[in-house]
Amino acid sequence: SPNSIAGRSMADVVLRGVSRVFPDGTVAVDAVDLSISDGQFMVLVGPSGCGKSTTLRMIAGLDQATDGEISIGGRVVNSLLPKDRDIAMVFQNYALYPHMTVRQNLSFALRLRQGGLLKRLWQRVASSKSGNDGVSAKDIELKVRTVAAKLGIEHLLERRPRELSGGERQRVALGRALVREPVAYLFDEPLSNLDARLRLDMRRELKQLHNELGSTMIYVTHDQVEALTLGDQIAVMQSGRIQQVGSPQEVYERPRNRFVAGFIGSPPMNFLEAEVQGDGTEVAFTQSEGTVAVDRLATEKVQRGVGDRLVVGFRPESVQVVRPSAGSDGGVPAVVALVEPLGDATIVHVQLGKKTDGLGATVMCKVAPETRFDPGERVELKLDRSRIHYFDPETGQNLE
Ligand code: ATP
Repeated sequence: SPNSIAGRSMADVVLRGVSRVFPDGTVAVDAVDLSISDGQFMVLVGPSGCGKSTTLRMIAGLDQATDGEISIGGRVVNSLLPKDRDIAMVFQNYALYPHMTVRQNLSFALRLRQGGLLKRLWQRVASSKSGNDGVSAKDIELKVRTVAAKLGIEHLLERRPRELSGGERQRVALGRALVREPVAYLFDEPLSNLDARLRLDMRRELKQLHNELGSTMIYVTHDQVEALTLGDQIAVMQSGRIQQVGSPQEVYERPRNRFVAGFIGSPPMNFLEAEVQGDGTEVAFTQSEGTVAVDRLATEKVQRGVGDRLVVGFRPESVQVVRPSAGSDGGVPAVVALVEPLGDATIVHVQLGKKTDGLGATVMCKVAPETRFDPGERVELKLDRSRIHYFDPETGQNLE
């Protein structure tokens, strides 16, 4: 029915060995395999230049894969024009037509679908008896109203983009994608021009929209918080390659390598070089004094023995900061460098260091907001050993 925006066909999106090498030799996307099932909200996340936009543009048909195969709904689309792929893309810069009203912006794609001017003239002549010319103006108006109501922009229909706030423009851009009822939606950093509060609101709306529509959505962002909150699945990219695909929880709790571990999570995971000691039940940090007891099992699991080097990773929330006391069983000694209250928690930056060489490392610890520490204060760190990650110092692979 014309006012339904839920009727849709299967739209799993599959990339097989997809690469994009630019004429100057830049390998923007390097043999990417990615499977996005119908109805999934997939977020591509990674630092600037990692190839996420190029990947999205290839799915949209705005850029050509130089290798590999892209299919949408079981149909290989490599050689299809963007307009024939039945997907809608929402950009960071909104890309609204400045001279058109919101109503015209929303209905533009549908009016295009009515056919070109010549075709419409011809149709009008051919169907002059019935007066029917494909998507009727009434259908278009109904669809525009339905979508405008859903996004709360009905009162803005007669305005032009310059008369709208950033958030309202963003909504119109979203509405324009919605009226087309595509099988999949692609988003390229659509919220990055909005202020923090509005981003939060729009994120929630997008998520809700996805729940309602159940459509496949592929969303590109460099913001890992956005990725964690929006995605059913997250694909973490670096240097044109996908480093890990998983649910937000999987990627956060079981990062496959040091890059993913350091990129996902804020403040980021701490990494310290270490050496296995004792009978394999403790590690000594190369950059500090003190050792940390670890589960023997853990070192066996990671197949590292006494004398082996590894990189120990722990999140700021997996470490406790305590004041040294007599009879303490020896945490890692540190000095408070900086205290950053965030309201619901406080980040304490501490400096580790061997007195002998003056070298050291900074570690971030997340503590309860009522805990008070002062710069210069001597403290000890207690690591939650069940939440320590171990990485290969050369390859960065998670050893577990
Ligand atoms: P950002 O978050 O900054 O938008 P991104 O992850 O989306 O980054 P892409 O825009 O996909 O990254 O770019 C991937 C790589 O390809 C970058 O190194 C970029 O410089 C390069 N690149 C993009 N377009 C071209 C081009 N037309 N010619 C050559 N190199 C390009």
